[in-house]
Amino acid sequence: MICVTGLPRTLAEAGHLLSRAHEEGADLAELRLDLLESVDLPRLLRNRPLPVIVTARPISLGGGFRGSEEERRELLTEACRAGADWVDVEYPFYKPFPRHRARLILSFHDFQGVPEELEEIVERMGDIEPDLLKVAVHAKGTADVLTLVRMQRRAASPSIFLPMGPWGEPVRILYRRLGAPWTYAPLEADQATAPGQIPLRELREGFHAMEIDDQTRLFGVVGNPVAHSRGPDLFGRAFRSFGWNARYLRFPLDDANLLRELLDEFGVEGASVTAPHKAAAVDAIDGLSEDVAMIGAVNTLRRSESRWEGANTDGEAALEALEEVTGGVGGKSVLLLGAGGTASAIAHALWREGAGVTVANRTLGRAQALAGMFDFEAVPISELGSLRTDILVNTTTVGMAPEVEAMPPVGPLLRKGLVVMDAVYAPRETKLLREARAAGATVIDGMEMFQRQAERQFRFWFGRGIPPEVTEAFLRAIPRT
Ligand code: NAP
Repeated sequence: MICVTGLPRTLAEAGHLLSRAHEEGADLAELRLDLLESVDLPRLLRNRPLPVIVTARPISLGGGFRGSEEERRELLTEACRAGADWVDVEYPFYKPFPRHRARLILSFHDFQGVPEELEEIVERMGDIEPDLLKVAVHAKGTADVLTLVRMQRRAASPSIFLPMGPWGEPVRILYRRLGAPWTYAPLEADQATAPGQIPLRELREGFHAMEIDDQTRLFGVVGNPVAHSRGPDLFGRAFRSFGWNARYLRFPLDDANLLRELLDEFGVEGASVTAPHKAAAVDAIDGLSEDVAMIGAVNTLRRSESRWEGANTDGEAALEALEEVTGGVGGKSVLLLGAGGTASAIAHALWREGAGVTVANRTLGRAQALAGMFDFEAVPISELGSLRTDILVNTTTVGMAPEVEAMPPVGPLLRKGLVVMDAVYAPRETKLLREARAAGATVIDGMEMFQRQAERQFRFWFGRGIPPEVTEAFLRAIPRT
């Protein structure tokens, strides 16, 4: 179930919240009474189109209720008498009061973090025997999310454990599977009543959260940050085109040591790995292929019984995009900008094809280390002069949003006949590609590589490709700038 939540200020706003929640498919609405002044509660609740939770959060707990504790209890008693289906009371302030037919939610909030004594707090809350126990605490990272997921799974009575903030996104989507009876959602993103809430429409129509069950196959992207990832859109479209009960979600991860725990705890079968964990993820896999060992980074993981296998699809994807335009890179000269994870995957693919590569990087030592593995040249990126090359590939993050007016220092190299590929795909049309095109070069944008690496990931997980019309529709929906 999805519970819409909101902070109305007037009777009209409260009525609007309930009717829109109902129209848009919510099962329940939480009415925060904090800011509502002298409202005719019987009138509001008599005609409610869906079950309602009432609550009034005091200022001391981040709410807006200014009255005394007694006044707050009176307001909630009145709301229960007026027909509220549930009443939510914060644990530290709980004292029995007439609830009429309303069921009790006993809640605990902490907007600073996960208190060390959370287990004891939950035990004491359980002693009160509420109809539902709710814990919403700010998660500062992956470890906090895992703590709450484990508490949710262990809960013996109806409970909701919510890690607030961006780290908790998968918990809000997978609530059913984790054992929570519902998840909270605002009608619009700017109406969220707690950090990290996902709007109702996105939960319903984007993630189809209400249909996720134990049979749903789970995939996702792991990294930090992951908010910008295009994977959920492309893979979500692919799953829907096959009618599969599968989801691809974002799993933010701040500590690479928790990679396997995170995937295992949520029951993820396959994952894309993105910055900054591509190199560290090598340690998370059980058997290293020769290619992965040489590249020293993985961007794809799959579970095979209790083992994890890894692959790197970046290099092959970039190579295929380049080959389509150049007819083959063997014997050609390539200037590779950057010496990070993407650069090493592409360097490996170029080496296998017999291209002559110069690696240019801001930190010369990293360029030298990468070039040394394949017997390539290394130069500082600031000393390129007007070096002549057949192909230029940017794998630095320069030009990526929000710094869209930046470009690597290669202006004098751009000319007719040069092929320029940018791995950066947000934005799709980078400044580097604009200037290269203006100079008469042939350009390949980051989406050409992205779609190919995603296609290979899909094959690694499912042994089949993404239907071309799905990829085409996905690409059409992405703006150039
Ligand atoms: P990474 O490992 O963090 O490497 C970043 C590289 O950028 C390093 O070489 C770094 O140089 C360089 N760099 C960063 N800031 C710079 C600056 N201000 N001036 C000059 N150089 C700078 O990152 P990655 O995982 O390889 O990703 C690199 C880019 O490729 C990202 O934009 C990513 O989104 C994109 N990517 C695209 C695809 C696709 O499918 N299209 C796939 C993978 C990655 P130092 O060594 O000096 O720090």
